[in-house]
Amino acid sequence: MIEPKIFKNEEVLTPEYLPDFLPHREDKIKQLAENLLPAAEKRIPQNTFIFGPPGTGKTACAKFVFREFEEYSGIKTIYINCWDYKTITAIFSKISSELGGFVQRRGLSKDEILERLVEICNKLNKGLVVCLDEVDQLVFHDDSALYDLLRLNQYVKIPIGLIFISNNQFVFSNVDARVKSSLNIEEIEFKPYSLLEMKDILEERAKLAFIAFENAAILLAANHAVQNGGDVRVGLECLMKAGRQAEKENSNKLLVSHVKAILQTVKPVKPEILKERLNLDEKIILQILDEKKRIFTDELYSEYCKKIECPVSERRFRDFLNHLEEINLIKIVGRKRGVVGRKRIVVKN
Ligand code: ADP
Ligand code: MG
Repeated sequence: MIEPKIFKNEEVLTPEYLPDFLPHREDKIKQLAENLLPAAEKRIPQNTFIFGPPGTGKTACAKFVFREFEEYSGIKTIYINCWDYKTITAIFSKISSELGGFVQRRGLSKDEILERLVEICNKLNKGLVVCLDEVDQLVFHDDSALYDLLRLNQYVKIPIGLIFISNNQFVFSNVDARVKSSLNIEEIEFKPYSLLEMKDILEERAKLAFIAFENAAILLAANHAVQNGGDVRVGLECLMKAGRQAEKENSNKLLVSHVKAILQTVKPVKPEILKERLNLDEKIILQILDEKKRIFTDELYSEYCKKIECPVSERRFRDFLNHLEEINLIKIVGRKRGVVGRKRIVVKN
């Protein structure tokens, strides 16, 4: 067997890896844990909304707190990404099945699904905490979702704590004020990391990942991440690629030169990450295109107007389309034959 020379464990550089220690998020973790704590004593937990740009540790912190909290309190924690569960019925069914009660979705109305979930919850002797990550997806696809969550909270006897996460600070701005105030949500903002914070975070990972490394190599990767939007994932990708480079060069230590060699290949933002940075209007355009695939610009505009409370003007809307095309997320093609005017077709890339 060939002895590894560079990597001790390269898996820790993947974005899915959840570290045991999240530098510079101690305060947020403490705050989140304190909000959940009452649930462990059958009291009402503090619902929380976490927001901030991509790659600032929102998901990681929530998962971290869930892991610790479940261990400490024996209370069931359920993490749900709303990209995978976009309606409240999907979410209620998911929670039911996580609690061991299978609920057939087909043929049942929302209220019936809710009723069964309430029954299942009431059999638990303990509280429950649920995290809804990327909650903009849920709010977008199901505009009464928060109201239904509130109903769940009111019908069950056990305390249920809710954590919402989004890149978009204003995701709840169109939600009924009474629903919002009844849910009593505390906000926690995740600000982008500074260069030194980024360096600390990457250094902790590098200690787990590499047998030996130059400190300046980590600083260079951290700088690249901060310069390119502050997403920790960018820094992790730099380290991974630099490690591969070092391997290729048969080196037994990660050096600045390895990072330098790959730096330009680590793109500032991947399409998925980029998508998260778009404004709400642009996200809605993409969501419509997810369903329609090909659509004329004017139809797209009217679909968009249906989905948003304060639509922008058609002119501004065209700016958004141009921007989306610029960053390669959509293509605007041709004109409809025989149609006068600037009726063009939009397709998703
Ligand atoms: P977000 O949900 O805000 O987009 P994530 O929580 O998914 O970001 O974080 C992206 C990546 O960066 C994950 O691999 C995560 O483990 C890592 N990360 C983010 N913040 C920290 C931190 N403070 N310490 C260690 N790793 C972090
Ligand atoms: Mg996330």
